[in-house]
Amino acid sequence: MATIGIPRALAYYQYYPMWRTFFEKLGSEVVTSPPTTQKMLADGAGRVVADTCLPAKVYLGHVISLADKCDYMFIPVIRSVKRKAYNCAKFLGLPDMTRAVVPECPPILEIDFDVNKGANTIYKLIYEIAKPFSKNKSHVKQAAMSAWETHLHYRQLMVNEKLTPPQALGLLYENERPDLTEDNRVTIGLIGHHYLLYDELVNQRLIPRLKTAGCRIVTPEMADAEKLEAATQRLAKRPYWTWEEEVIGAGGYYLENENVDGIIGVAAFGCGPDSLMMDSVHREATRLRNTPFMNLTLEEHTAEAGIITRLEAFLDMIFRKQRRLTCA
Ligand code: SF4
Repeated sequence: MATIGIPRALAYYQYYPMWRTFFEKLGSEVVTSPPTTQKMLADGAGRVVADTCLPAKVYLGHVISLADKCDYMFIPVIRSVKRKAYNCAKFLGLPDMTRAVVPECPPILEIDFDVNKGANTIYKLIYEIAKPFSKNKSHVKQAAMSAWETHLHYRQLMVNEKLTPPQALGLLYENERPDLTEDNRVTIGLIGHHYLLYDELVNQRLIPRLKTAGCRIVTPEMADAEKLEAATQRLAKRPYWTWEEEVIGAGGYYLENENVDGIIGVAAFGCGPDSLMMDSVHREATRLRNTPFMNLTLEEHTAEAGIITRLEAFLDMIFRKQRRLTCA
């Protein structure tokens, strides 16, 4: 039985259940890397030039940690999942970058996913990537259909039960019921890409810190996809970037819904797409809605003390505003 490695980074929190189901239905075993450690980050960062973005360095660290544990590494190129909206160059070059800087990586299973090329091309690519495991087209089709159903179930679970991706994965694979009891003073909308919001090393345990401080958290995955799309249309007209809904859509949606008391935008240092998207939400929040907004920019040297200080100052401002409104 072949073992497929899936790094716990970049698109992992979006698609892991779908990918895992696909390969397992084809008779393979799937292994993932553990949550990011400082060593993984240092290993990944050590293979590329300094100005490569933090999530790409983290991804390479995960590949390195999995390299001797699998027969194949699954590294898809997620070019476009929505018509005429594209991913950044890091995503497009991921398999090539990995081959160039991680020579110990086992053979890479890559699929260039681009909805603009039409359904037939995607079907052909799915049969192609399944070839090492099955040449039976109906078997591959069944595996792909199960994978898609799993994906829809995963997305719906997060929306219906207001779960973050790690909570939904815990429920799906470890039967861990998250503690959803609420005793919160304020609601904070967290916006940003999944690989920044849910990697606790990269963001210095942002979500647990907010919860300990008495905040209820709402994240992009907890909102219905159609509502995020509508909010993206309103703020940005036509989305240009893949996953623009996680930033502009979620920001626009939560500024109008869920009575959020503040928005925290999480971005990676040096990321062009994120800087433009965050700015749109920032302007909408502060000038038009009078909602506090904080932009948290992460890089590998981000210090824990710096994050704590900024969070405390931001929450203090929100708590004081709340007290003022209560007394008025
Ligand atoms: S969108 Fe930005 S942070 Fe994400 S992979 Fe691309 S450059 Fe890096």
